[in-house]
Amino acid sequence: MKILDMKINWNYKCSNKPRIQVLVDEIPKIDDMLFSVNGNLYYSEIDGYVRFFYYNRPGDGYSGQIYHLRLDNGKQIDLVGPWSSRASVMNDVGFAHCTEVSLTTEPETMIKGHTFFGGAMSVSVLREAMKKHLPDHELIVDLNNDETSYIVVKKGVTDPCKRCKGSGKCDGAINWSDPMKLIRCPECGGRGQAR
Ligand SMILES: [Zn+2]
Repeated sequence: MKILDMKINWNYKCSNKPRIQVLVDEIPKIDDMLFSVNGNLYYSEIDGYVRFFYYNRPGDGYSGQIYHLRLDNGKQIDLVGPWSSRASVMNDVGFAHCTEVSLTTEPETMIKGHTFFGGAMSVSVLREAMKKHLPDHELIVDLNNDETSYIVVKKGVTDPCKRCKGSGKCDGAINWSDPMKLIRCPECGGRGQAR
């Protein structure tokens, strides 16, 4: 998997955290991934692409779908309806740090900005790729979270402004149904920093 392009969806119109959108040439197949196990957590990374599951017994996660995982100890296991868990849970038990992203293999999706699918990627691989594709931004640890999670911000921002989420720009429309119009954030004066 190679990273071809990156953008940021700041999620101005909702309370969600900003999300990095990543265009890749292909999505690694789960059959090609080797999973590490820590308790009920299963984690694998290949070329920066990360997959993880929470599993303790057959359940209804992923509509009860069965995943045949190859483990890094040479064994195999079938997970019946595992749950997806969160990147921050994986980070806190000591797996190589990862964060949620939006992924696509379609250049058209990058332009339109929708029909991505949710996934996770390695923080170190994302940081390396951001030097080329998002040189004015960086991934920092989110200090407002008890778990180890990451947020994308404008370079130099350590405590993202609540209104513009650290981008320095925000939606000028008071009524969310108005057409999107980005203005310099009045809350932080465009610095992106809360204080
Ligand atoms: Zn702001």
